[in-house]
Amino acid sequence: MVDRQKFACRRCGACCRTKDGIVRVSDAEIARIAAFLGMSEADFIANETELAPDRRGLVLKSRADGSCAYLSPENLCLVNPVKPDKCRTFPFEWVNPDSDSVCPALRACR
Ligand code: SF4
Ligand code: SF4
Repeated sequence: MVDRQKFACRRCGACCRTKDGIVRVSDAEIARIAAFLGMSEADFIANETELAPDRRGLVLKSRADGSCAYLSPENLCLVNPVKPDKCRTFPFEWVNPDSDSVCPALRACR
């Protein structure tokens, strides 16, 4: 468990730039992100998502370098108010075994 008092995000964007990382999106997440972007859910699904590698559901599209399509050049999340739960809960409710190698702020808490 990560100590919330010790964790200080450095806003480096590394967690949104992992080459093999995926962000699955549920129906509810699709609905809220599409509404935030002023898009229909059908357009959002067609243009902003792709099939997950295991072909079970949809993930947010990544750029060629592996970064999330919603990561700004300033390392800000362009859908921050409605970002998927996986992003919102990292690194507290959700982490994976590789997270320490990705996130410098997480390593600093150990
Ligand atoms: S949706 Fe936002 S927080 Fe989530 S990976 Fe993309 S840029 Fe990062
Ligand atoms: S990798 Fe860690 S320090 Fe960098 S933006 Fe993500 S949560 Fe913050």
